[in-house]
Amino acid sequence: MNREYNLIIGRQAVAGAEGTFNVLNPATEQPVAASPQASLEQLNQAVEAAQTAFESWKLSTHAERQRMINKIADQLEKRADELAAIIVQEQGKPMFLAKAEVGGAIAWTRATAALEVPVEVIEDSDSKRIEMHRKPLGVVGSITPWNWPLMIAVWHIMPALRAGNTVVCKPSELTPLNTLILGEIINEVAPAGLVNIITGESRLGSAMTAHPDIQKIVFTGSIPTGQAIMANAAPTLKRLTLELGGNDAGIVLPDADLDAIAMPIFQTSFLNMGQTCAALKRLYVHESQYDALCERLVAIAEQQNVGNGAEEGVTFGPVQNSKQLNIVNELVEDARDNGAQILTGGAPAEGSGYFYPPTIVAEISDGVRLVDEEQFGPVLPVIRYSDVEDAVRRANANSNGLGGSVWSSDIEQAQRIAARLECGTAWINNHAEILPHAPFGGCKMSGFGVEFGLEGLLEYTSPQVININKG
Ligand code: NAD
Repeated sequence: MNREYNLIIGRQAVAGAEGTFNVLNPATEQPVAASPQASLEQLNQAVEAAQTAFESWKLSTHAERQRMINKIADQLEKRADELAAIIVQEQGKPMFLAKAEVGGAIAWTRATAALEVPVEVIEDSDSKRIEMHRKPLGVVGSITPWNWPLMIAVWHIMPALRAGNTVVCKPSELTPLNTLILGEIINEVAPAGLVNIITGESRLGSAMTAHPDIQKIVFTGSIPTGQAIMANAAPTLKRLTLELGGNDAGIVLPDADLDAIAMPIFQTSFLNMGQTCAALKRLYVHESQYDALCERLVAIAEQQNVGNGAEEGVTFGPVQNSKQLNIVNELVEDARDNGAQILTGGAPAEGSGYFYPPTIVAEISDGVRLVDEEQFGPVLPVIRYSDVEDAVRRANANSNGLGGSVWSSDIEQAQRIAARLECGTAWINNHAEILPHAPFGGCKMSGFGVEFGLEGLLEYTSPQVININKG
């Protein structure tokens, strides 16, 4: 166990009124540190601090907001190694990926600072001028998951601040420590109360979604929690951005170049040990290439060095928590019972830590849980098809709609098929690429609202029309 962690309420480091809870290292199952357990009263104090800060922050100029967010990016750079180290310890990903997460968080912070909030002139005639302005909403409640904890907190907090809001953030109770450090870093440069961090279990999240003084909830997490949030937010008519689960399909067309696509398919399916919302989670492969692609994917899976992400040379870490490990295990066992072939992997590793090797499952089809449900872990079902139309139909026959992909040497044909996929982003010869300037979000049960780019920023505002009568 290393340093002490505190809540951040109104720029003060505060102990949890309800004590602490242990955060475990998924590679060792040993405690990393104790995180403060906030009380509901402390949540109220955090909201009050954010509300008070909003009274002046809403009047800040765009240039002031941009300057402050860039200063946060500077501070993040100074503490990048510390952040990467704690992400490895509490989240489990290998160091190279934790560094990429911190680098991404810094890049997103700067990209968000650079966004301009437009004033739209709707009419400018002899008789009138009508302008549409964008006003901040007030206190934004951010609730984050455990897979990319720092990056997702930055995705929520920075656009909220850029648009003139203030924030109360509740990270996942499984990975709260990096967000507490993020809060410290922000509070080195931000006015008191601008960003408050409270940690604890779902009860706090639930109270946030019903809180009368929180104007918007931005939530990234599972579909059942998204549904609970929407129901809970109804009485106060909160604005919502819900980035929920996915079960992204990838379709490999008969003409695809296997040498070119095998590695990116593996990487985007197993990104962060498969614990990525927009990872490729169901792979449909034409029968003419099925065996050859499976063989290549198995070879790449078997090259991975599975182990503690803090150790040199490890390319593949543990699953983040025992509940998720059990889900992955259960889905693979169910697939096996239904006649699927486990080409590599297929069982948790012996000993301590939540390790599960990269697993490729073949001879499986729709109707089996591993295909129909989100696995959110290191296992990829590979499904054989003979007719492209049938593959498109099966890809769309799922209640999720986050991402999708088409893999082919014929870009035009791939584009025609991509346009028919029911998802928020359709990639061609790639998957899971998320960028600060491209709006990202889901359709169907994967949620609504987008993040990133101008469209993402505008979700943290409400329009106000100014109608000037010149007569
Ligand atoms: P989760 O829904 O269990 O928890 C996410 C957060 O919600 C945690 O902070 C938790 O404490 C809080 N929470 C739980 N119950 C709550 C309630 N009733 N009210 C308010 N808050 C509550 O999700 P998870 O297991 O941490 O994350 C995995 C899921 O997140 C996967 O389904 C994954 O696909 C999804 N995800 C989606 C995206 C995206 O951008 N679409 C990104 C990452 C993860």
